[in-house]
Amino acid sequence: MVNMRKLRAEARQAATGRGHELKKFSHLYGSAAGSYAVASCRLCRAQVRVEPYPAHNSASIWGEAVGLGCPGTGWNSATMQSAG
Ligand SMILES: [Zn+2]
Repeated sequence: MVNMRKLRAEARQAATGRGHELKKFSHLYGSAAGSYAVASCRLCRAQVRVEPYPAHNSASIWGEAVGLGCPGTGWNSATMQSAG
C-alpha cells in the first residue's frame, strides 16, 4: 500500500523548495493509470502530480512545479534561489 499522504508531503516540499506555493491537492481518477492527486501553484499555476502507481520507468512525483522554479516569486533557475 502506497502512502499517498507521504507522497503528497514530498511533492509539496519539492515544489516549495523551488519557490512555488501549492494549493490543496485534488484527487483525480484516471483510467488505466489509476488514481492520482494534483495540485497547482497559486502564483504561476504550475502543477505537480502524485501517482501512487506510476507507469514503468516514470516517477511517482512529477510536473512543472517540481521541475521548474516559480516565476511568481522571481525564481532564478541559474542560481536556484529566489530573487526576492
Ligand atoms: Zn509557482
